[in-house]
Amino acid sequence: MTIYSEEWMKKAYICNGCSWSGTGAESTRGHMYRGKFLDLNCPTCSELLDVLMLSAKKGCAHSLEGLTEEQLKAKEDEDEQERQYREKCLSSADQLPNLPDGDLTLNWDMEQDQIQIKNGETVIWSEPAVYEGFDRFEQVALILKEKYGTRLKDLVPTERSKLFLYGDYEPSLTFLIKLRKELFGVDAEY
Ligand SMILES: [Zn+2]
Repeated sequence: MTIYSEEWMKKAYICNGCSWSGTGAESTRGHMYRGKFLDLNCPTCSELLDVLMLSAKKGCAHSLEGLTEEQLKAKEDEDEQERQYREKCLSSADQLPNLPDGDLTLNWDMEQDQIQIKNGETVIWSEPAVYEGFDRFEQVALILKEKYGTRLKDLVPTERSKLFLYGDYEPSLTFLIKLRKELFGVDAEY
């Protein structure tokens, strides 16, 4: 996942599908989805290269000008909700428990409105689920890898978590397959 505000046009890509290599600028822009995700595809064979996430930041300081008191209040409530959500989210490897030695294959599961990261039946982390939260999957996977290093062999989404994780955005499937290949070297199935 590349954030739009990063220098995504200069980022180097090598296509898994063919031998094409090039930069984000040379990729083919695919579909824009919900004004949030844009797929970048290989110009030669159309394989998904990356998903560009458009900045979630809403406007700049000036955008508050001209808002009514009611709108400002709504904006504050929204910011507060966002802050509360962030607080519940995994942000550092220190928040994760130490686990007994040996290889780890963790599960990404969903229970009611919570994402649960499980080691077998043991929940080692839980946080609020986000619809089409496959970008969140990447962030969590990176923190898990930071904590457990090469012992971590895979992060596997459970069947019941998939609908919410992938949502209606088809490239999310390919994106997560690619991510698990890159992080863990696994050839996962959909
Ligand atoms: Zn290609």
